[in-house]
Amino acid sequence: MRCVVVGAGIIGLSAAWELARSGVETVVVDPAPAGGATAAAAGMLAGVTEFHYQERDLLGLSLPAAAKWPSWAAQLEAASGLSTGFRPGGTLVVAADSGDRATLADLRAAQAALGLAVEEITTREARAAEPLLTPRLAGAFRAVGDHQTDPRRTAAALVAALEALPNARLVAARAVRCGAGAGPFVEYDGGRLDCDEVVLATGGGMVRAGGTGEGPVREGLALEGLPAPLRLPVRPVYGDVLRLRTVPGGPLPSGNVVRGLVGGQSVYIVPRADGEVVVGATEREDGRAGVGAGGVHRLLRDALRLMPALGELDLAETIARARPGTPDNLPLLGRAAPGLVVAVGFHRHGVLLSAAAAAAVAALVGVPAPPGHAAGPAPSDLVPFDPAPFDPWRFS
Ligand SMILES: Cc1cc2nc3c(=O)[nH]c(=O)nc-3n(C[C@H](O)[C@H](O)[C@H](O)COP(=O)(O)OP(=O)(O)OC[C@H]3O[C@@H](n4cnc5c(N)ncnc54)[C@H](O)[C@@H]3O)c2cc1C
Repeated sequence: MRCVVVGAGIIGLSAAWELARSGVETVVVDPAPAGGATAAAAGMLAGVTEFHYQERDLLGLSLPAAAKWPSWAAQLEAASGLSTGFRPGGTLVVAADSGDRATLADLRAAQAALGLAVEEITTREARAAEPLLTPRLAGAFRAVGDHQTDPRRTAAALVAALEALPNARLVAARAVRCGAGAGPFVEYDGGRLDCDEVVLATGGGMVRAGGTGEGPVREGLALEGLPAPLRLPVRPVYGDVLRLRTVPGGPLPSGNVVRGLVGGQSVYIVPRADGEVVVGATEREDGRAGVGAGGVHRLLRDALRLMPALGELDLAETIARARPGTPDNLPLLGRAAPGLVVAVGFHRHGVLLSAAAAAAVAALVGVPAPPGHAAGPAPSDLVPFDPAPFDPWRFS
């Protein structure tokens, strides 16, 4: 069997590795691997603390995905010889003022009603877990099951794992046309690949999808051979992110992810083992791809309100990328047609969901679990999530 995966972000790379290590001949096409949302993502594996009121259906995918991460990361590190940056450890959720505390307490009640493990702790306990937190907190909660990874390192490990397999290869090109149905194919700048299955993993990349016989498309990737016009409404939700770096002799965060609410606005602080501290993230739908000055100001102001000592770190990088958002904030994940599997629109959760999405793609393509799965849940353990909420046809 031969699969062509279009898009080498965290989703496409994860799917490709899952397919390739199961023995499928796998080609990944992308002009800029891991240069999209994956490059900016903080890497919180936050099945619990990313829960939003309207996103209950996501739990069917996000909770098994979070549970799969530790063994999946270990398998990937063994296959690639590289660190993924996976870091187990809890997440502290802190409130700057009494209004923030009330909001977080309401959210905690909704999470508890769904069986999600978030406990209220004292601010003293929060400061014992993260001594850089300000003593002027109004409230604190802890989620023990939410971990983190470094998406850039994870993507690099996936590329290395793919390069180590004789049946996988990457093509550095932009796909311009894909065909589903009889004789699936991918055309890219400079070539064409015929295959048994196309896996569409273009994140927020523009897709123009129509029924059979659609005319030439000026921009974006044209999908052909579908039974009817397929709408994949993915919109860019920009996020500004700061990367701080610890300095010798300077303050060192403890390793807990800190998520805060400051005057009703969210901020998160993700300390990595290598001394990087990621601060994010704004949400903008203004179409501006550059880093927003106002966003940088707010993130620094709110992060320093919660952890004043962060002001002593170096500001190493600012970056903005677009989350691929859908109208209901759920991914478009499933079989769109014979020969075409869709895995786009992962919005705020693509890193968390990558391992589960990869297993789902492999199951949709119909490949058996690779031998390495003995150490973790097999795809068949993950895929019985209810696929209906993620149906790629639901907006068509
Ligand atoms: C600021 C920010 C913070 C985030 N934090 C988190 C977090 O903490 N935890 C979490 O789980 N998620 C987080 N996310 C979300 C996560 O980054 C995305 O959901 C995830 O990266 C989506 O992965 P993807 O592979 O679908 O898309 P992308 O990473 O955007 O990759 C898509 C790839 O497709 C390629 N492509 C597009 N069109 C074509 C084409 N025509 N031909 C070939 N290739 C093509 C692009 O070049 C790109 O490499 C965050 C996102 C942002 C922006």
